[in-house]
Amino acid sequence: MREAWLLTPGPLTTSSSVKNAMLRDLGSRDDEFIAINRQIRERLLQLAGAEETHVCVPLQGSGTFAVEAMLNTFIARGAKALILINGAYGERMARICAMGGLAHSVIRWPEDRPVDPAALERELAADVSLTHVAVVHCETTSGILNPIDRIAAAVKRHGRGLLIDSMSAFGALPIDARSLAFDALVASSNKCLEGVPGMGFVIARREALMACAGNSRSLSLDLHDQWNSMEKNGQWRFTPPVHVILAMAQALKEHASEGGVEGRGARYRNNCRILMEGMRKLGFESLLPDHLQAPIIVTFLMPADPRFIFANFYDRLRCKGYVIYPGKLTVADSFRVGCVGRIGPEEMTGAVKAVQEVMTQMGVKSGSPALLHAR
Ligand SMILES: *Cc1c(COP(=O)(O)O)cnc(C)c1O
Repeated sequence: MREAWLLTPGPLTTSSSVKNAMLRDLGSRDDEFIAINRQIRERLLQLAGAEETHVCVPLQGSGTFAVEAMLNTFIARGAKALILINGAYGERMARICAMGGLAHSVIRWPEDRPVDPAALERELAADVSLTHVAVVHCETTSGILNPIDRIAAAVKRHGRGLLIDSMSAFGALPIDARSLAFDALVASSNKCLEGVPGMGFVIARREALMACAGNSRSLSLDLHDQWNSMEKNGQWRFTPPVHVILAMAQALKEHASEGGVEGRGARYRNNCRILMEGMRKLGFESLLPDHLQAPIIVTFLMPADPRFIFANFYDRLRCKGYVIYPGKLTVADSFRVGCVGRIGPEEMTGAVKAVQEVMTQMGVKSGSPALLHAR
């Protein structure tokens, strides 16, 4: 039997060809390896329309390491970040700042509301000490899409720097540095780019990063230092995750042959549509209205039927080969189903069918969260 499909926010299902690309050992000073690194960094810049203005700095670790590196490197002593929060990943950025002693303030919205650019503008006008704004592109907590274009325009108008956590969006949802101003954007190898976990990267505006020398209070998370030494000899400062990088090179080839950001986004949108339609037929309701929903991960409200026990539902789905994810919301009891990774219409249709079978096994007639329908 094949391994279960991961309908989660990550780690995600990857292709066999991506996994197979890891079956070699290359030294960190190997010419071939150095060339592969260069190609990956160039390709990631292209995907952001940022070849002319930005540089790509990869970093060992999961996505959070790269987020922490971005905040640590860009928020200088004397600088202050405004963190826009509508979910757990925004909260995480605030926590990183608090633990690192980085000056910051926050604005919070409920998890089912997008960040409001008007409130952002008011705060930027009111607090002149703010130098940067940090925001999550797609809040994976709920699956909500934040209005990144309008946020970027507001930040630019007020002459501040924008730091974007685009972890769960980059590679599937377009972002173009030629029309959307940002100082830094972070993503990782294992979300929409469908590599294996282990590497994050920051796309940083060259001028802005150049001004960051000496900012970082951490050695291993210092993006300026990481960039500087990589520019010198093409090598990573510390042991590179060689196999992860080899897998990433293959993943980027597959991303390109699928049609890049547009092609990948189209597959995910189709995955999301199949999931939504199927689940709604079974009575389930999504937390978000369609116009706020990113085609990345969907939050479903917990069914009202008392026979629906989530742990049981989860285990039975797992047995049928589909791994879903618990909810992480404070506003509602919920669970999540991902649309990303190396999965397509067949897997999404299969997942909906498995949900229906499990409901029958559990004696649950409807997935509706409204008590009215429970019996
Ligand atoms: C996945 C994710 C991260 C990073 O998570 P890791 O577990 O550290 O890889 C950060 N922000 C968002 C929005 C994410 O979806």
